[in-house]
Amino acid sequence: MKNIAIIGAGMTGLSLAYNLQEHNITIFDKSWRPGGRVSTRKHDNYFFDHGAHYLSTNHSVFQLNEVISKYNLGQEIEIDFATDYLKNKKTRKKIIIGQNGMNSIPKSIFDNIKVKSYLNSKIIKISKNSNDLFSLFSEQEEFKDFDYILICIPYLQSKELSKELIDFTQIVGEPSYDPIHTVMLSYKDNNNKIKIKAGLNLHKDISFFMNQNIKFNELSNDCWVLNMSSEYTKNNIDIDKTELEKYAQSIFEEIFDIKNEISFIKSHRWLYAQTKLSYNTISKKNWINSKDNKIFLSGDWVLGKSLSDAWDAGEKLSHYIKILSV
Ligand SMILES: Cc1cc2nc3c(=O)[nH]c(=O)nc-3n(C[C@H](O)[C@H](O)[C@H](O)COP(=O)(O)OP(=O)(O)OC[C@H]3O[C@@H](n4cnc5c(N)ncnc54)[C@H](O)[C@@H]3O)c2cc1C
Repeated sequence: MKNIAIIGAGMTGLSLAYNLQEHNITIFDKSWRPGGRVSTRKHDNYFFDHGAHYLSTNHSVFQLNEVISKYNLGQEIEIDFATDYLKNKKTRKKIIIGQNGMNSIPKSIFDNIKVKSYLNSKIIKISKNSNDLFSLFSEQEEFKDFDYILICIPYLQSKELSKELIDFTQIVGEPSYDPIHTVMLSYKDNNNKIKIKAGLNLHKDISFFMNQNIKFNELSNDCWVLNMSSEYTKNNIDIDKTELEKYAQSIFEEIFDIKNEISFIKSHRWLYAQTKLSYNTISKKNWINSKDNKIFLSGDWVLGKSLSDAWDAGEKLSHYIKILSV
């Protein structure tokens, strides 16, 4: 049994923890909750999945489906979906959503695997000791004696954290991300009169929109999440939040002819939202490792842009760690 530290309790870190349960696992996350970009925001009586919206039904990561059904974490629904709103293309689409918001998927996995964990613990340094074991440091504490360190956070942050221990001049090419500004908004008494529940290309500056009432039955107001396009986000990366929210609201109300009073609006900036170019596309490799095979970097950025890619990346790395640790 090895002492393994996993930094990041998003889908990649949870996949590793799930697959390496025979070892002594400790998982760290800087946030107060697991799930990372699979995030559900709750404000009073409003609920928004403002990170990942759904799991596609046609992904090919068999184990993720197995875990979702084993712990009863998801439900399949069918919705009216605009495959391209601007071109008036629509379809009926099947998707998988969390039983209680998307974050309930990683949260329940985290609760079920019962590994040692430190939330609210941002890891800021890793060091190798004379006995070839590793220490991790948060602002407050040192965590000692790890055989392996598995870093499952966005690529640039992993690189910064491990640059003393991995020779990045040997790494061929770098993966890249698109940033996304999201806007969450809600209307009183709109009674869900908008028939189309989600879709792509609502407007040149809004790449995705999704109704939240189809996910949260208890919502009394009409709640929506809008993803600004990555192009718009890049060009307006530091835009004032109120200006962003007003702009998104005005587009949304004009398109759907909404006259009701807005009852809630907030936005969130995802700087590393979705993988644009994956590491596997550049290098054909499934992780980055230190020369001594003790420190590993993984994440959705290895394979693609979805939460199933994140799970797959963790699962693939776990097979290798199992081989190394026998
Ligand atoms: C707006 C948006 C919409 C999306 N829509 C979809 C969708 O509809 N369907 C889909 O399949 N995917 C979607 N995705 C992508 C999906 O959310 C990600 O691919 C997936 O969640 C990535 O998981 P991960 O574990 O690799 O990374 P993350 O989820 O980013 O997890 C990394 C974790 O590491 C923690 N962390 C970071 N630094 C440190 C540190 N120094 N110390 C400790 N902890 C640290 C973070 O708090 C975080 O919990 C969307 C993403 C965004 C942002």
